[in-house]
Formats: sequence, C-alpha cells, structure tokens
Amino acid sequence: MQVRVLGCSGAIAKDCRTTSFLVDTDLLVDAGTGVGDLTLDEMARIDDVVLTHCHLDHIAALPLMLDAVGGRRTRPLRVHALRATIEALRAHVFNNVIWPDFESIPSPEAPFVSFHDIAVGQTLQLGSAAPKRIEVLPAVHTVPACGFAVSRAEGGANWVFSGDTERNAPFWDRVNALDVAMLVIETAFSNREQALADRSLHLSPKVLADELAHITPGKQYPIYITHTKPAETEEIMGQIDALAAQRDIRWLKADGVLTF
Ligand SMILES: [Zn+2]
Ligand SMILES: [Zn+2]
Repeated sequence: MQVRVLGCSGAIAKDCRTTSFLVDTDLLVDAGTGVGDLTLDEMARIDDVVLTHCHLDHIAALPLMLDAVGGRRTRPLRVHALRATIEALRAHVFNNVIWPDFESIPSPEAPFVSFHDIAVGQTLQLGSAAPKRIEVLPAVHTVPACGFAVSRAEGGANWVFSGDTERNAPFWDRVNALDVAMLVIETAFSNREQALADRSLHLSPKVLADELAHITPGKQYPIYITHTKPAETEEIMGQIDALAAQRDIRWLKADGVLTF
C-alpha cells in the first residue's frame, strides 16, 4: 500500500502545500492545495475523497479539482465526510456563489460530485482497483472533525492520520487497539504559540509529548509530523527533536511516498 504526500504544511508558501494524501491511485485523504500537483489523469483516477473536516486548508482544491476533471469522469466523485462537513460545503462552497453546485451540475442525474455521510467509529470500504478499509477516528477541533485509519480491505497494518486535533484520549484508545504501520499526526504550532494552539485546538510539541505518552508501552512505529506552520517549522522541529530520543519521530515531506 502506498500513500503519496501531496501536501503536509499548515499554510501555503513556495514548496509548502496544505494537507492532502493520495492512497494508491484512487483514494484522496483531504483535498488541500497539494492536489494541484497531480496531473489531470491522476486526478481523474480518484474515485473517492475522505475529508477530516471543512477547514479551507483541507478542502481548497476540491471545488477546483471537480471543475478540472469532472467532465473526464463517467461517474460522480464520491466525497465522504461528517454530516457537518458536508453541510458546510453545500452552504459555503458549492452554493452557486463561491462555486457551482456540482451536486446537480451538469445534471442532477449525472453530477460531478456526490456527498456521503460518515460518522466517527464507522468503517468504510472504498476503492475498486485496490479495496481499502477506512475507519473513522475521533478528533477534537474547532469544527466537527475526524481522523482516519486506512488498511487493505482484507486487513493488515494501518496508516493512521490524526487530522487536525488537540488532546484526544479516545483517539489513542482506538489507535492502541489497531495494528499501526505508521502514524501521521499534526503539530501546527510551536510551544511559544501555546495560547494560539489552545484556542484553535491544535497540538504543540509540548502537548504532542503528552499525547504520545498514551501509546501502549512497547508499541513502536514511525511517527510523522504534519501541518506545521511554514514560519514556525524549524522552531517546532527543534522542540520535537527533544522528544525524538524515545520515539521514532520523522518529518513528512511533500511529494514523499510512504509505503507499508
Ligand atoms: Zn482545521
Ligand atoms: Zn488544518
């Protein structure tokens, strides 16, 4: 199984793209600005998108991608998200003001996109070329949000993604019960910006350390840090390096490929 990192930054700048991961060739996890690096053919091959939440850095490329490849596809792109996320997309993006309502364009019978509710705790099976099992994990954020664990449909190790989150004990209860190949977890702010991290419900290195202490002792897997703000990345890296002695902590890089 392969996860291509399209974007793993908390904001945009040269060489910084926001959250998006391509799993195999047919499943997109979040649709941040990293999607813009895909070719038209690569975008057209995506059948399903799972979204962690409605914030712009995770959905910015979705409306643009539908416009780019909707006409090349023979069936709607399926977008799976929490009901609140879908409601926000309908109200604030696909509202015929910010962007066309591609749920009924070009026709209600054959639209470019269809939306599908998911709920925390649910398990989906997606992917026709390479079937995958996707478990919806809890997250704690300023809007309804979730994370995901993705494995082969027949089972095996999981790629686990926290989504945007703050302190989240229920997440660890579930992750500790899974076979984890690797964990991708956000650390949006440095310790210096703790007040902002608290207010925006993101992690800092200090709180990340508390969170990683939930991992069952003896369980070891690579932990990749994502969603750092470009202006603070070096500072965050320095603060996390202090933890790295006890854990296998790595930095996600855009256009890197994770294989497991
Ligand atoms: Zn967010
Ligand atoms: Zn975000």
